[in-house]
Amino acid sequence: MNGSAIVVGAGIGGLTAAIALRRIGWDVTVLERASELGEVGAGMSQSPNALRALDALGVGEEVRRAGVPFHAPNHLRTPSGSYLINAQTPEDGTPLLGFHRADLHRALLGHVPDECVRTSSEVTGIEQTAGKVTVTCGGAKSTADLVVAADGANSTTRRLLWPDAPRPRFWGNTVWRAIAKLDGVDASMTMSRGQYFLIMPVGRGRVYWALVARAQGPGIRFDDELSEVRGRVGCWHDPIPALLDATPPDVVLHHDLADLDSLPTYVHGHVALLGDAAHVMHPDMGQGAGQAIEDAVVLAAALAAAGDVPAALRQYDAARRPRTQTIVKQARKKGLGGTSANPLSYNLQKLMLRMIPASRWPALSERALAPVWTWEPPQFLEHTR
Ligand SMILES: Cc1cc2nc3c(=O)[nH]c(=O)nc-3n(C[C@H](O)[C@H](O)[C@H](O)COP(=O)(O)OP(=O)(O)OC[C@H]3O[C@@H](n4cnc5c(N)ncnc54)[C@H](O)[C@@H]3O)c2cc1C
Repeated sequence: MNGSAIVVGAGIGGLTAAIALRRIGWDVTVLERASELGEVGAGMSQSPNALRALDALGVGEEVRRAGVPFHAPNHLRTPSGSYLINAQTPEDGTPLLGFHRADLHRALLGHVPDECVRTSSEVTGIEQTAGKVTVTCGGAKSTADLVVAADGANSTTRRLLWPDAPRPRFWGNTVWRAIAKLDGVDASMTMSRGQYFLIMPVGRGRVYWALVARAQGPGIRFDDELSEVRGRVGCWHDPIPALLDATPPDVVLHHDLADLDSLPTYVHGHVALLGDAAHVMHPDMGQGAGQAIEDAVVLAAALAAAGDVPAALRQYDAARRPRTQTIVKQARKKGLGGTSANPLSYNLQKLMLRMIPASRWPALSERALAPVWTWEPPQFLEHTR
């Protein structure tokens, strides 16, 4: 089956959906409210499941070239610099890839023709009649057989079609993040009571850092966010002070973290929610964008195989909800565990990590992540355009 689709949002989820739908022969228009697509966000990792999904779309190799392999979970430290885990990466270990979000986004955008993407196009209304969906955008209306709502954590589409759905919920964690220029830095994670600091090289001498911390409440902001970070971790081990010195104050992003309680369905008639619009999650499993990428491939496979859009969307919903909603819960648990200010739980965590032989750590941590990382994309019927 093929037809026409409007994708709302040109983030990683929306662009991957556009690539996937075009591969099965659909006409795609992406509507993006931002006036330009560019250097937004900081760093992120992608794991094997997401990379396999991109392989299924034929863009995996190119995306890999935009990333930097790393094994961050193999180097866990305390603020003084002592190692809780300092494991050698085995030859056959599974690497993650670290990206500047803009590099990953650019690699995907390169596979969507310019004429398919309309910027400065905010969708403000949506209605469904007789097997068609019409969206309102800047006073004009556009109609298609399918709308893919990839409009992010605060999705307008979700609000319009699921008026009773919960909004993303703050559970207590907040994050500062930035990209700094510094050579010779390895990926690592440093754990303290109530907060942890992540370091991830993203290529060309750029390093992504993030400080995730337990906050008193949502919306707490500081006049100088970099000074706040310095006050918290500026005296931690090298290279953290150097990284902060190499960070221009105006590039520091500060957001509260939230996730979305499970929606009863990701589909409504001829509309499918995808990515953060369907399942906002804490970043601690490194899976938010990865799950959006998986969503896109599964959606295209279902559309290629099914006889009509509602049947395909039912299949998509059944395939995606259990997996993504499980990961949302795992990420929340991991995120809140990682910022626990309870001295007992922090000391216990340190003790347990120190007892694990470094040689066994890579296999153990991969085994724990296997249910997420070993996911295989569905086969789908490709249509040559
Ligand atoms: C600190 C942090 C670290 C993270 N680390 C990772 C990681 O390591 N790995 C990982 O996979 N994920 C990570 N994530 C999650 C990841 O960033 C998100 O899950 C992912 O970017 C979501 O993509 P999306 O396309 O669904 O939504 P978005 O990227 O939010 O894109 C939505 C797009 O829709 C547009 N839009 C919104 N409303 C409208 C409208 N009404 N009309 C038109 N356009 C609209 C927006 O402008 C935007 O471009 C992290 C998140 C955070 C906060």
